[in-house]
Amino acid sequence: MKTTQPRMYLSPPHLGTFEMEYVREAFASNWVAPLGPNVDGFEGEMASYVGSQAALALCSGTAAVHLALKLVGVGEGDAVFCSSLTFIGSANPILYERAIPVFIDSEPASWNMSPVALERALQEAEQLGRLPRAVVVANLYGQSADYDPILSLCESFGVPIIEDAAESLGATYRGKKSGTLGRYSILSFNGNKIITTGGGGMLLSDDEEAISKARFWATQARDPAPHYEHTEIGYNYRMSNILAGIGRGQLRVLEERVEARRKVFSRYKEALGGREGVDFMPEAPFGRSNRWLSVMTIDPTKASLRPIDVIKALEVENIEARPVWKPMHRQPLFAGCRYYPHQPELSISDRLFAVGVCLPSGSNLIAEDQERVISAVLKTMSC
Ligand SMILES: *Cc1c(COP(=O)(O)O)cnc(C)c1O
Repeated sequence: MKTTQPRMYLSPPHLGTFEMEYVREAFASNWVAPLGPNVDGFEGEMASYVGSQAALALCSGTAAVHLALKLVGVGEGDAVFCSSLTFIGSANPILYERAIPVFIDSEPASWNMSPVALERALQEAEQLGRLPRAVVVANLYGQSADYDPILSLCESFGVPIIEDAAESLGATYRGKKSGTLGRYSILSFNGNKIITTGGGGMLLSDDEEAISKARFWATQARDPAPHYEHTEIGYNYRMSNILAGIGRGQLRVLEERVEARRKVFSRYKEALGGREGVDFMPEAPFGRSNRWLSVMTIDPTKASLRPIDVIKALEVENIEARPVWKPMHRQPLFAGCRYYPHQPELSISDRLFAVGVCLPSGSNLIAEDQERVISAVLKTMSC
């Protein structure tokens, strides 16, 4: 029996009251271009919010990863280490540059890159004389990775970090804001992220010269000349002034969005956490998550059902739920790529993929709708 309830999404956009002011201003001043005062404003406001020296607004988070890889000099045949448990946007740009991804497993405390696996991978790479050009570290579902050990490893091997903070804007790591922990950090404003511009991204760094170079590449690599002169490959990666206006309005309410998502998470945990075999994504003591997505785990050996049963049962109620990201080392696209599990015989990301369920987590999810999700989950557990 199909429900007549409206669809409940995993992470829908949540617009506020400030966005229209900026968009209206762009219309009024005829700034409808991939540049303009909203773009400058959004870059400056984001840089000062996270505490970085420079920012470049782009058309997607994936474009930001691509430019970060170019800035560290990734080229054909280079190895690039990358979190395995992440969205494809972290990894696809490695292939754009014909580099070779090597995937690193998660650790259980944060579900993010395992420093133990990273160390093994770096040691082996050094022995083979194939140290990576960069390590792309994703901050999963709103929680920062454990950067202290990751940074000290990368420093000792001389490898720069690209922080993929697409999911973790508003989170912190030991008091530092997500988006400041890599040599280059990237954000996404895709429609499902904690704040959105409909589609967009940003590249952040303290290296202003590098950001200028990325700006040049992102604007078709136009050499300074009165005519159009090009000596390097460029991209059309800039964000439009209209969308940047939406971003400026969204950034003003980011803290509220974080609070709302954290509240959604604690309501799920309170209502479902005590069940046999049911658990939730942990929050590691080193930081504060923005709880972008609330992720529940179901251990099928203890609970009487599998994660997929819950996802299907919610679908019947017109509620969107999904497994956690399928690890990159399991993707057909990356067949044959090297993978370093947390322990030689223990792959954490594979286990999380088998047990994890992402539940509707929007900051605009009202308590009444969340109750619908909770009772649908409870129903599957009792039968
Ligand atoms: C969303 C996301 C991206 C890509 O961002 P787009 O703006 O969609 O290109 C990259 N990495 C992670 C971890 C993401 O969740």
